[in-house]
Amino acid sequence: MTSQYTPSFPSRLPHVGTTIFTVMSALAAKHQAINLGQGFPDFPCDRTLIAKVNEAMLADHNQYPPMIGIPNLRNGIAKKIQGLYNHQYDPDSEITITAGGTQGILTAILACVSPGDEVVIIEPAYDSYRPAIELAGGKTIAVSLQVLRDPSGHAASYAIPWDDLEKAIHAKTRLVIINTPHNPTGMVWQKADLDRLATLVEGTSALILSDEVYEHMVYDGAQHHSVASHPQLAARSFLISSFGKTYHVTGWKVGYVAAPAAMTAEFRKIHQFNVFTVNTPMQFGLAAYLADPSHYENLPAFYQAKRDFFKAGLEHTPFKLLPTPGTYFQCVDYSGLDIPEAKLSEADFCQWLTTNVGVAAIPVSAFYDKPTESGVIRFCFAKQEQTLSAALQRLQTLTR
Ligand code: GLN
Repeated sequence: MTSQYTPSFPSRLPHVGTTIFTVMSALAAKHQAINLGQGFPDFPCDRTLIAKVNEAMLADHNQYPPMIGIPNLRNGIAKKIQGLYNHQYDPDSEITITAGGTQGILTAILACVSPGDEVVIIEPAYDSYRPAIELAGGKTIAVSLQVLRDPSGHAASYAIPWDDLEKAIHAKTRLVIINTPHNPTGMVWQKADLDRLATLVEGTSALILSDEVYEHMVYDGAQHHSVASHPQLAARSFLISSFGKTYHVTGWKVGYVAAPAAMTAEFRKIHQFNVFTVNTPMQFGLAAYLADPSHYENLPAFYQAKRDFFKAGLEHTPFKLLPTPGTYFQCVDYSGLDIPEAKLSEADFCQWLTTNVGVAAIPVSAFYDKPTESGVIRFCFAKQEQTLSAALQRLQTLTR
């Protein structure tokens, strides 16, 4: 006999649907559109890295690794951070290997946010922050990046809303989440910005969660400014990064969280019951590969060439380009297009672009909680030149 029982219970995340990245990738597949939506490379990773993972598997590194990650990988990360940002994390008590950046973010939030605690985020914000805060019972306090407009009213760039941040951060703030280089706008924090944030949190017990998964994608000779490079911030920050972005292996889901020992101790209490540990052969492969810094040292030039190629092609479309100092995302303003669709919401425009023009993009409005339309969509340029060319050809059919 089949059971008639229908499960019914209150949703833990009543306002949440499927992430926009999954939705747009499915739509792109359905319409055979070129997928410049979800952020992932369409080119292979280095065969050497795969060989190192294979070697680890064949050498029987296939059982549980230590809960916090294998020593070689944590040591390599500590050395890398020391070299790049001049901060020494203790690999044993301050670095934990996670199942990608997203797990690191959720676990860090669960570790420090109690019901009713205030967490400040800056929108547009990566779509996992808010649900993670909600699961912890925290209260999200969202401020918005300022959209700076050109004389014709099109979005031209973004600025950190310092006045709003100053109002939002107070003695009771538990956590402030920042993201540099910033998804989706590509904005990059400067040293002066970190100084200003440090001043705002001084005298409060606010912690910082700094999502730096695009740390090696900063262009035009500029530098990434990590919270690790800022002693006052490092002392109260969870630093999140990811190997997926840096080594073109987003599907491996390996990242890490570096934080002062007291914060890491609480982080690990959650981590051990969340994923317990992260797949062993990948950790061995990454540890061996990390010893050679040339891959991440060459990454800015590698992605800058793609950015410039894509931008040059977009100049022959009616889109207005926003600056891209970092990340592998290019934002464009479509509100000036001389077609009726220019009046559509960002989500509808992306749907139309995917279905009718054959190129998928992500609406920036998906990174806001309240309906916020700025006429801007995000393309991912982490693609082979032939993919970008084919997408450009389609986009160039749009008229001004
Ligand atoms: N971080 C990626 C992006 O912004 C997507 C990750 C995901 O699909 N969850 O496109």
